Amino acid sequence: MYSPPMRMGCRTCRSKGAKGRARCGIVFRVAGEYIAGCGALSRRHDSLMLLLRRSILPQALRYTRIVKMSSQPLHTRDVNGSGSESSKTVRDERTVPPMGMTSSQFNNAATEAIQDITNYYDNITDRPVLPSVEPGYLAKLLPQSPPTEAESWDKIRADMESKIMPGMTHWQSPDFMAFFPASSSYPGMMGELWSAALTVPAFNWLCSPAVTELETIVMDWVAQMLALPECFLSKGKGGGVIQGSASEAIVTCMVAARERYVTRILEKEGIALTEEQKEDRSAEIRSKLVALATKHTHSSTHKGANIAGTRFRSIDTLLSNDFALHGHELRSTIEKLKSQGLEPYFLTVSLGTTNTCAVDDFESIAEVKKDYPDIWIHVDAAYAGVALVLPEYQHYCKHFSTFDSFDTNMHKWLLTNFDASCLFVQNRRDLTDALSITPAYLRNNFSDQGLVTDYRDWQIPLGRRFRALKVWFVIRTWGVEGLRKHIAHHLKLSDLFVDLVRSRSDLFTIITPPAFALVVLTVNPTRKQHAPKPSSTSGEPKAENTVPYQDSHLAVIPQQPDSSTLELANANTKKVYEIVDESKRVFLTSSLVGEAYAIRVVSANPLASEEGIRKVFGLLVEAAEKVLE
Ligand code: PLP
Repeated sequence: MYSPPMRMGCRTCRSKGAKGRARCGIVFRVAGEYIAGCGALSRRHDSLMLLLRRSILPQALRYTRIVKMSSQPLHTRDVNGSGSESSKTVRDERTVPPMGMTSSQFNNAATEAIQDITNYYDNITDRPVLPSVEPGYLAKLLPQSPPTEAESWDKIRADMESKIMPGMTHWQSPDFMAFFPASSSYPGMMGELWSAALTVPAFNWLCSPAVTELETIVMDWVAQMLALPECFLSKGKGGGVIQGSASEAIVTCMVAARERYVTRILEKEGIALTEEQKEDRSAEIRSKLVALATKHTHSSTHKGANIAGTRFRSIDTLLSNDFALHGHELRSTIEKLKSQGLEPYFLTVSLGTTNTCAVDDFESIAEVKKDYPDIWIHVDAAYAGVALVLPEYQHYCKHFSTFDSFDTNMHKWLLTNFDASCLFVQNRRDLTDALSITPAYLRNNFSDQGLVTDYRDWQIPLGRRFRALKVWFVIRTWGVEGLRKHIAHHLKLSDLFVDLVRSRSDLFTIITPPAFALVVLTVNPTRKQHAPKPSSTSGEPKAENTVPYQDSHLAVIPQQPDSSTLELANANTKKVYEIVDESKRVFLTSSLVGEAYAIRVVSANPLASEEGIRKVFGLLVEAAEKVLE
């Protein structure tokens, strides 16, 4: 409950509770002032106090009621804090306590909210994973204008269930197997709660040293957990920073890459230029810059290039290479662009593409980078990167020391609530050179002397949230071993799903190698002879997949497509997808893989379970049986 400045003690009976706090905790406001009551009924305000103590009326109403009851101030105080109790000036006319609730009210409301949340998680499977509302549903339920009078928390709370929940897609439900997951965990939520409680947009070290220092420490922990090369740790020239999203990380790196590329060309040209000439020449160079990615790289690279104001080209990759980019494809693209007078300056390579979790061929790409050191290579491991906690996957890191940056979202698969995108760079100066602008009001001795990290220079916005807390809480709650088991569990679920799908090769085809708990399948053009494949439920991740998926029972995406087969398979897969989707019992995503319409099943949700895997498989079989009848 809100306690006003306690020099006044209880304004009703003048008694003081422990540590100067009012014992009864009752606070009310009369004619423009907050008054704390000690709980003892004063002779003067008996009826008022009784009303307050017994009332279940919302706080705002209490205030209003009292103000109405008394036209004369019962007590006055100087709200400017001059200490003069005799002042008759009442300047504070607020009817709601400064924090919206008193501490005691917050205690109750937060306790109820936590109960609502645990209830939500404990019973999440009782809710359909997908909502059934029509577009615009919410406008029909809410007033068109904001409330003029304060509303009670009880009323606000009730609207969560009645108004908001019907329009929610339940990402935390085990029936959510679409896109990639957005992890949530109780320790992650605790981090969010504390971050909200402290609310420090700590752009500079000085704005809250703990925010910066914890971030540096936990990012070094993450780098070690994922076995990234030492050059990405803060003890050298590199370091990590928590960004809001993988897209933000890409555009941030792209801007740094663009400026680094321009600077290097100017240096190579070595011509003494005036500031104006330098500006002109830089603009000329920028106009020729091209960012690169493959057709399967996430669209954030294309978007980043648009934002950074440079060109974008995508490189074709082959099904026979599982859509992975190889060095020779990169080299020929670079050479072609250069022959056209263009300057490739940025490349995103993927550790786990969105469509199929393809992994580019880092070894051969690292060879090309040796010949083109000015091209910034960014590893987008938004989803799959956290699997590097497993030693079996750490061979992928072998070539990362050749690359400039690496980013993975702990908020996708590693139990950390949105948002926690972990970006690591080899050379932090690349970021600060491009992004540091220090007006006088941001200057301070610590920063000027270079003693501290100011993360505002490693990102696009100035202010930043205290995200390191939730990362810290998560890592400490699970420990590295616990995190490994978490990832391994999902890989086992995925292996189970693969086995189930293979057991119905009459209906389905898995079209790319199952990887990182993602399985991509199509429905067959016609029902095939049943030919179950051998099981592979070892639970161990498979070694690097550099060959086409050998288990494909049918070339749904043949190298020379037979269009009628492909069309039939696409039509069947689409129908099956739609039947399953309309059931609203699970949520899957469909996608185009090459020219094939495919269904993606991801078993990496924190609450994913064997039961859920069997359920989705059952629904797919039921729908496919119907379609292939
Ligand atoms: N990269 C990959 C491989 C992704 O799958 C995604 C999103 O799913 C992104 C980047 C973009 O992620 P974000 O939403 O964090 O920007």
